[in-house]
Amino acid sequence: MKIKEKCGVFGIYAFDEKWNVSRFVYYGLIASQNRGQETCGIAAFNGEEIRCIKGKGMVEEFFSAEKLEKLPGWVGLGNVCPFNPESPNNIQPVNDNDSKLAFSYNGKILNFKEISPNSKNVGKNEDANVAAKLLSDELEKSDPLEATESVMEKFKGAYSFIAITKKGEMIVARDPMGIKPLCIGSFGFDHGAVASESATLDVIGADYKAPIKPGEIYIFTPYSIERKQAFKPQPKHCAFEYVYFARADSIINDKPVYEARMKIGEYLAKEFPVDADAVIGVPETAIPFAMAYSDYTNIPIEMGFVRTGRAVRTAIKPTQFERLVGVQLKLNPIRQAIRGKKVVLIDDSVVRGTTTRNIVNLMRNRIGAKEVHVRIGSPRLISPCPFGVEVPEKDELIAANLSPDEVSKVVGADTFAWLSLKGVIDAIEFPKEKLCLGCFTGEYPTGG
Ligand code: SF4
Repeated sequence: MKIKEKCGVFGIYAFDEKWNVSRFVYYGLIASQNRGQETCGIAAFNGEEIRCIKGKGMVEEFFSAEKLEKLPGWVGLGNVCPFNPESPNNIQPVNDNDSKLAFSYNGKILNFKEISPNSKNVGKNEDANVAAKLLSDELEKSDPLEATESVMEKFKGAYSFIAITKKGEMIVARDPMGIKPLCIGSFGFDHGAVASESATLDVIGADYKAPIKPGEIYIFTPYSIERKQAFKPQPKHCAFEYVYFARADSIINDKPVYEARMKIGEYLAKEFPVDADAVIGVPETAIPFAMAYSDYTNIPIEMGFVRTGRAVRTAIKPTQFERLVGVQLKLNPIRQAIRGKKVVLIDDSVVRGTTTRNIVNLMRNRIGAKEVHVRIGSPRLISPCPFGVEVPEKDELIAANLSPDEVSKVVGADTFAWLSLKGVIDAIEFPKEKLCLGCFTGEYPTGG
């Protein structure tokens, strides 16, 4: 991935203490791996205490059967996140404060330093720790609903969180702008489940019920699920979820991601048609864009590349050998689909332009494409994200500094185009004022 989302959360509540849920959390986290691949953790409450195991690595690499056996319990939560080398102690779930609370969160609380009781000693990226500490302190004074409302009054920014208390309650909350996704599902009357994305619920066999509304709180106890619209919803859903972060099989804010991606491909074709012999989508996220582009233009879709290894960002720094082999090491082209053809290459986003340049160069100079026309299923990325997504600074973003014609020259394409802002809004089918479009416009929702 070229841009990293900050975290996926998952929680499960069995209304019968006989259940052991850590394996459900494990599979839920594997299904959430698109939202963070560098750290993972699971916490479980067994009626007496909260236990937590977390560390660096992909879920399947880090967790073993032995580790899961050390996490018995009928209430569980988990988290996947990118690793932040500036804050190596920030791996989630947070379970400090004498394990009174386990806390898993996705987002960025912008005012975390101001609201921290210990603001002088708070590190640069310790928003999850501050939020967990504040919630834990409030829980000493009031019931879970009041405590959650009280901390949400203080938080400014984007957040979806799940917490387990030392009494075995599960608290779930989403900020009033609903920037980060969160949804709820169930297995009959036995279990409640909460996840960043609905596909996570599908994967573990739960039924998706609904998105958790912006400003809504859920409290799970052994006897009930209490639900409260604690704050007035002021939706500003992250538009980039539909373009790039979320799985194509998820429903985010009641809108299927697949439908949005197919519409994006259609609008790309309407806005930027071209005479060509083949449409190729790369990487996987761009396949629905390419399918819809092909449908609309009647240009055949081709499978242009085969991936070697997993679709992950590797931590290994490239050696001279890896630089020499370049993009082919991960994406090997299918010559018969490309050679001698005029190709429309559809990608999901362009950050610095390096990967696109390498792919275009490979298609044209090594494989022998006649023409390469690049179409991007995202509007121009011109600004960083304050809400926890790792978009590089403005001076590194090619779209913030060059026109499409200039980018076309830099990446070596015949033509180059980004989807318009209107195109992405129409594809998502939400009113513009209900979306965060900050990294495409530089204008961010405030308040919340
Ligand atoms: S700035 Fe971009 S990535 Fe960040 S929440 Fe808004 S749309 Fe999503």
